Amino acid sequence: MKFGGVLVQDAAAIMHSAQLVVQTAHKNTRAVVVVSAMADVTDGLLDLAEQARQGHGDEVAQAVDLLERRHEDAIQTVFSSSPAMAVQPVVDEEHALFVSLRQALAGVAMLHELTPRSRDLIVSFGERCSAPIMSAALRAAGLTSRSLTGGEAGIVTDDTFGSAVPLLDIARKTIPRALTPLLDRGLTPVVTGFVGANEEGVITTLGRGGSDYTATILGACLLADEVWIWKEVDGVMTADPKLVPDAVRVQALSYREVMELAWFGAKVLHPMTVAPVQEAGIPIRIRSAFLPASPGTIVCADAPEAGPVKAVTSIRKLTALTIGGAAMIGTSDVVSRVFSLLAAAQLPVLMISQSSSMANVSLVMTQTDAERATRLLRKEFAGSMVIRDITATPHVAIVAIVGDGMRGTPGVAARLFTCLASENINLLMIAQGSSEVNISVLITEKEAQRAVRTVHAAFGLAGAT
Ligand code: ASP
Ligand code: MG
Repeated sequence: MKFGGVLVQDAAAIMHSAQLVVQTAHKNTRAVVVVSAMADVTDGLLDLAEQARQGHGDEVAQAVDLLERRHEDAIQTVFSSSPAMAVQPVVDEEHALFVSLRQALAGVAMLHELTPRSRDLIVSFGERCSAPIMSAALRAAGLTSRSLTGGEAGIVTDDTFGSAVPLLDIARKTIPRALTPLLDRGLTPVVTGFVGANEEGVITTLGRGGSDYTATILGACLLADEVWIWKEVDGVMTADPKLVPDAVRVQALSYREVMELAWFGAKVLHPMTVAPVQEAGIPIRIRSAFLPASPGTIVCADAPEAGPVKAVTSIRKLTALTIGGAAMIGTSDVVSRVFSLLAAAQLPVLMISQSSSMANVSLVMTQTDAERATRLLRKEFAGSMVIRDITATPHVAIVAIVGDGMRGTPGVAARLFTCLASENINLLMIAQGSSEVNISVLITEKEAQRAVRTVHAAFGLAGAT
């Protein structure tokens, strides 16, 4: 069971989440709990790391004091609910973590250097500080529990600091070795989300939003029956409820569908989340901590198809780059040079289209990535005849429909285009992958909300559940 930042943001949230664990962790059900850092702490720590690099030691020290107080308050409140329990060991444990955090930040401030490795160490304190409090709340609620870092729980990763890749062949042995004896003793382990360790035991992180990934890595390696992701919303919705008020819960999604949704801005789950469980066929349940009676959304291999389209999503704040020049025609290595360059600079491309004449290629990226990409491409192709111009179209948005049922169903694209046309929304780019699970269109950003609403209505998504 994984609890996100909002669900552990303070003592009240932590105690509420602990109750959800207690309600399920009875004799025949064994649970491993995964927690995120308290809400906004990860952003705060990344910010502090950067400030430390710039040498703002005093500001950093003050902010760390505040952060420590926030955690200490939560501890005191959790323990006040259970006066028989000794608060001091947890206070001491937490204090020791803050001492190390201060040392790490002081080191960065002194060297004016922030390596990916030290950034991972610093940001890991978010989860390392929230997990012991969750564990204490479980003890206060009557369970036996202890907290572990991802590394202690057996999550071994490679050395890609910032977005480490779990070494599942090793983890399949190390995770059960770490956790099964605890579960056998009736303990409920609380594991830090997001955090792993390389083979030498150096702390790594799995990338932003990585706590979901932690949960499925653990679930897969322990051969869990299900992985539950508790959220503050009622599962996956047919559209962002902030854009579409009549969005409803999707009952079931396939692994492929949820992956498409993750990539296409719905921020349902960390994009790698399904990978570990997909192979083992372990379902993921996305459930609401505030509506625990609701079944939420289940993610499994074969989700029933309500219709061709399950959900519509949008990503805003994008820029389209069009790279062109008549001499590009027939010179396929230009395209490969463009993509190698972007890959080497770690600039993800969200959507691609190329006319069959090959006279130009269009790429969609986030605004900030597109600025960097333009500079790099101009430099790479300076003076070349092949690429004549790179034009940027800012303030664009991708709207995408996702659903396994689109495969082999004619007319889905036609319905999408017709409804957008009827709203007078112009399409700047169109893409459908050959998997046919997703059709994406590029439009201007100011039309995005209207587009999402129209598409949601046209595919009858409000009535889908
Ligand atoms: N705390 C990490 C983040 O904010 C990981 C997570 O919450 O899933 O990215
Ligand atoms: Mg998250």
